[in-house]
Amino acid sequence: NKQVLLKDYVTGFPKESDMQLTAATTKLKLPEGSKGVLVKNLYLSCDPYIRNRMTKREPGASFMDSFKPGSPIVGYGVAKVLESGDPKFKQGDFIWGITGWEEYSVITATESLFKIQHTDVPLSYYTGILGMPGMTAYAGFYEVCNPKKGETVFVSAASGAVGQLVGQFAKSLGCYVVGSAGSKEKVDLLKNKFGFDKAFNYKEEPDLDAALKRYFPEGIDIYFENVGGKMLDAVLQNMRLHGRIAVCGMVSQYNLDQAEGCHNLMYLIIKQIRMQGFGVSSYYHLYGKFLEMVLPAIKEGKITYVEDVVEGLESAPAALIGLFAGRNVGKQVVVVSRE
Ligand code: NDP
Repeated sequence: NKQVLLKDYVTGFPKESDMQLTAATTKLKLPEGSKGVLVKNLYLSCDPYIRNRMTKREPGASFMDSFKPGSPIVGYGVAKVLESGDPKFKQGDFIWGITGWEEYSVITATESLFKIQHTDVPLSYYTGILGMPGMTAYAGFYEVCNPKKGETVFVSAASGAVGQLVGQFAKSLGCYVVGSAGSKEKVDLLKNKFGFDKAFNYKEEPDLDAALKRYFPEGIDIYFENVGGKMLDAVLQNMRLHGRIAVCGMVSQYNLDQAEGCHNLMYLIIKQIRMQGFGVSSYYHLYGKFLEMVLPAIKEGKITYVEDVVEGLESAPAALIGLFAGRNVGKQVVVVSRE
């Protein structure tokens, strides 16, 4: 059973050497009487929040506790059930949810697993559009932003796992949508594949405030925040009256010892903005409703999803780190096994 372990707590920008590929010699078995499942992991999801669990923190200090050095990385994935002590799952079922960065896992917390009912779409989609990032885009946009037809929407990290969907949801509602991303290739994707009205490379904009004024001469109604830092400050200056900011993530801050300050919070008052952080885990009760909307849209080609797929468990550490250098183009997936 090959595994990717966290070697030690991480400070600053993560490195491949913070993780270690090992081969545990014991063959995994479901313990006698266990209510858990033994699974074969197929696809693993690289997500920015995983970095937060690599920082040393007191238990309970963050929304998820720190990993233990020497233990496998834990994260979302798609897997096949080999043995089950939980009546909800049987041998041969496909599931998605929290699993380990290893070939096989014994999962005892089966309440966080979803049985995959629809296998006529790529199974890897359950790490992205049909999994946690998809739910994040759906809950953040429809539940938190309170969007209306014709409004102006700005999405940062717009080509990523979450952002590409937020943009497409906003377009399907009839909004004017602009996205920012970190390369020409990503900007082209936003405009030509995901249907954003406009897109720009934030790395080539010396003055973000001026760039936003160019794309939003009348201001921004909705900002879907994925990056934080300087972008948030520039956006605050460009929000419209009664604008809404859904704070999904702040990826530019995850590797800093101390998060950057925000200078323009006064605009929350001046423009009467509602700025709300949210966590996807509070919205999984909507998963069925979400699937009813998104599955037909995928099958009819009304929504598209770009993945960045790397092969082999040994590729996982570099893929995870790549998120913080913007190397992933679309949802970062690691294939452990295709069957
Ligand atoms: P992405 O697929 O978008 O990958 C991360 C991207 O972030 C990179 O590709 C890069 O794109 C961008 N990025 C990295 N570093 C920086 C930086 N310093 N400044 C600006 N951009 C940067 O990730 P996800 O779609 O999975 O996640 C997007 C956000 O949503 C994250 O903040 C994540 O933590 C958050 N999230 C929150 C959830 C919640 O429940 N609240 C659930 C899931 C995700 P580029 O080339 O464009 O710079």
